[in-house]
Order: sequence, then structure tokens, then C-alpha cells
Amino acid sequence: MKEYDKIIFELSRPGRKGYQLPADRFGSDAFSKLPADLLREKPAELPEVSELEVVRHYTNLSNKNFGVDTGFYPLGSCTMKYNPKINEEVAAMPEFAGLHPLQDPATAQGALELYWNLQNALASLAGLAEFTLNPYAGAHGELTGLMVMRQYHISRGDTKRTKVIVPDTAHGTNPASAMVAGLEVVEVKSKPNGSIDVEDLKPLLDDSVAGIMMTNPNTLGMFETEILEIAKLVHEAGGLLYYDGANLNPLLGKVRPGDMGFDIMHINLHKTFSTPHGGGGPGSGPVGVASHLTHLLPNPRVVKKEDGTFAVETSDDALGSISTFFGNFGVMMKAYAYILSLGRDGIREVGPMATLNANYIKESLRDLYKLPVEGPCKHEFVFDGLADKSTGVTTLNVAKRLLDFGFHAPTIYFPLLFHESMMIEPTETESRETLDEFIDVMRRVAREAAEDPDTVKAAPLTTPISHPDETGAAKNPILTYKALRDA
Ligand SMILES: *Cc1c(COP(=O)(O)O)cnc(C)c1O
Repeated sequence: MKEYDKIIFELSRPGRKGYQLPADRFGSDAFSKLPADLLREKPAELPEVSELEVVRHYTNLSNKNFGVDTGFYPLGSCTMKYNPKINEEVAAMPEFAGLHPLQDPATAQGALELYWNLQNALASLAGLAEFTLNPYAGAHGELTGLMVMRQYHISRGDTKRTKVIVPDTAHGTNPASAMVAGLEVVEVKSKPNGSIDVEDLKPLLDDSVAGIMMTNPNTLGMFETEILEIAKLVHEAGGLLYYDGANLNPLLGKVRPGDMGFDIMHINLHKTFSTPHGGGGPGSGPVGVASHLTHLLPNPRVVKKEDGTFAVETSDDALGSISTFFGNFGVMMKAYAYILSLGRDGIREVGPMATLNANYIKESLRDLYKLPVEGPCKHEFVFDGLADKSTGVTTLNVAKRLLDFGFHAPTIYFPLLFHESMMIEPTETESRETLDEFIDVMRRVAREAAEDPDTVKAAPLTTPISHPDETGAAKNPILTYKALRDA
């Protein structure tokens, strides 16, 4: 192990320092003025390192990080598109970043106007009446939207409606959010192409149904062609339609969930509207609703008054608050900058380019990888592992081998419909050359699997760690240096 790859505690040597503070800045008796029960009994165990060691340690660590800014990141379902740097500059503007959430709205008119404009832009892209930008992430938006759904039925005295229909291919957050919202999950089957089986849906639609959660294009990247029929059936049964907007990217400016019949939806600003994500960074999951539900959106809301100024309002009809203040404002600023910089025409190119890129990869690899669903996909598609199953090389092996060639792995073993799922989403921001390079490497790995399967199974050969014990790490994580030392 190289010296600076060690844990910062291992680099520590007693007495080394990376800082200088003015002597006696707070007076020599500073500690004696603090209450005794607030003082440490012994000094904190902090690493003792020089400034140069700190710089090298963290610079080396950051170089090991993989992101959209370092390489191709075809992680299906995650829309890892390039995040233009202008968005970051806008989000860092001190006039916005320095605002305090409790200051008088009269002194924060620009921020409120941005909130208002962004929710309007999303509403017009979605074909819905109004958005709240307050939820922190997609899953949080799902929870908010399902609470709106539940409250809608309760407020009409229709208290029997406690079931939410969720397709068997749904993202795991869908059933989880339904449970947290106090609703019961009922599964509807998918057909082999991943679309909802309408014949399986019909008998589920009774007066206990609160609604259905769907995504379109579905989890296999295919457009749900029977959506109008499904919307009619669900509405006739008294239910509402919830749209999981994580797959909105291919439809931007082309097709609107509101026009398909959806009543409620969330959008992942950190996916479709370009904010760096992964590793749990800040996200934003705005929730939009049709006009019959706007009174239920959570507090606080931004309203535009007749004199053109903006105000913050709370209402008793609303769900209450689901976040502190207005959610992750910095992410909203990036999304707003992204929308304005693309403009009306640019937004309309996003979906077709994302769709073209996905189909280009799919068609270039389908002779070597098993394509379980025929036909044009939208922004992503799923392979069921290698076409030649005799090599013993699995989807996991292929995913790990890709790391040796400098690519992030696709999403693997999701959706659960197939044993060897490999979900690929290139996004619209990649060049033809990058796609060709990825295709070449995928073809090379398929060849290797046939000729030299042991190399593929041993991969990755170039990363700092190769085959971690994932189950062990999940069940018995070692999260502190002390635990590592004692282990
Ligand atoms: C990412 C994703 C979610 C959850 O969104 P988060 O922002 O990660 O909470 C929900 N549904 C689908 C289909 C997704 O891809």
C-alpha cells in the first residue's frame, strides 16, 4: 500500500501539526470559564499530520473517486448525465447562497421568484397544475405524493381506499413509500415486455383502491402504450394515478404525464434536471398535482400576488410540512439554470438524443448480449447477461471487468424480472466516440468471456480493491478506525 493510501489515522505521528493558531486567542483562562461538565475528560483522538500529508492524502483519495466528470457512467435508472458547470456557478451566487430561510420574504423576492418560475416550468413540462419543490429526493416526493393521494380520499369521506397498486417491476422505493404513507401495497403483474398486464389489473380495481403507481417509460425502458386505457380504468374505479418521474428524461417537452392521465407525480431534479448525485448528495424531488389536488400540497407555498410580488403562505388544508422551509434550494437553482440554458428547443432535444444513444448501444451489442425485450426502447434498456450462457461468466463479472477499462458499471441485477439483468442508460450528453468505445469494450469482454473466462471472473485487476465481501460488509461493517484496530 502506498503511504498516502493509508487511513489518515495510520499516517498520524504524535506532535505533527498542519495548523497554526494565534497563541492565547481566547485568553489563557478560557477553559476555566466553561462549565466543567462540558469539558472533555481526555483530549480527542484526532490524527496528527502535517499540512502536506493532509493535502496528499485527500488529493489521492479524490483521484480514486469515479464520477460523470471522470468517465462514462451508464448506470441504468439513475440518469447520470453531465452537469454543466454554469449550474454550479449560479447555485453558488452569494446573493442566493447567503439567504437565511427566516428572513423577511420582502427581502428575498428573487429567491421566491425563482421558486415560482421553476415550479411553473415543471408544471408546464408535466402538464399538471402546480408543483411543490419542498421534498428532498425522489423517494421523499413519492411519500409526499402518496400522502396527497391518501388525504384526497379521506377528505372526501372515502376512507376505505387504502390500497396502492404497484407493478412487480417497480423501483424499490415505490412499495416502501406506500408503506410509509400508511397504504397497503398490491402488486400487479407485468407482461414479458415490462408493461402492465391490463387483464391482471382489472380485477384489482375495486372501491378499496387509492391509486396506482407507475413509471412511463417502464422499468425496461419501454413506453407503456396502454396508458390511456389504464388511466381510464383506474379513474373509473375512483383511484388516482401516481407517476414516478425518475424516467421522465426521454419524454421532456414531447409527452406530458398530465396528458397521459396522471394526477400526481414527482420529478428527480438530480436526475432529469442535472445535479451531481450519488453517494447521498443533496437531491430534490418536486411533486406536481392536477388542479383538483393543489390545495393539499404541503406548506409552505410560494404565491404570486396581484401586485407582482411573492409571498410565503401556509394553509390548513395542506398536508403540513414535509421539509424544513423550502427543501434543497441549491438543487432548484441548478435545475432552473439548466432549463433556461437549454431553452424551449434545447429541452426538446434531450429525450430524442437519450433515446437514440440507448438504441444505438442496444443494437450494437444484441448479437453478444441477450436482449429479452425486442423493439425500440426509450432512454435505457436491459440485457439479460451474455448471449452465450456456456462460459459461466455472469453479469457481475462483466460489470467488474468494465472497471478495468475505465467505465462505471451499468445497474446490475435490477429489474428482478431476469436472472442476469444489466440495465444500461447512456444519457443524451455522451458523444458518438464515447458510445463506440463502450461498445468496443463490451464486445471485447464478451470475446474474453468465451476465450479467457478466468480473466473476466478475476476482474477488476486495476482497482484498489477487487472483490470485497459485500455480505460481510453489510452485516458486520467496520465504520471507525478504533473498530478496525480492535478487530
Ligand atoms: C432514482 C429512482 C427513484 C428514487 O429517487 P431518489 O431521488 O433516489 O430517492 C424512484 N424511482 C425510480 C424509477 C428511480 O430511478
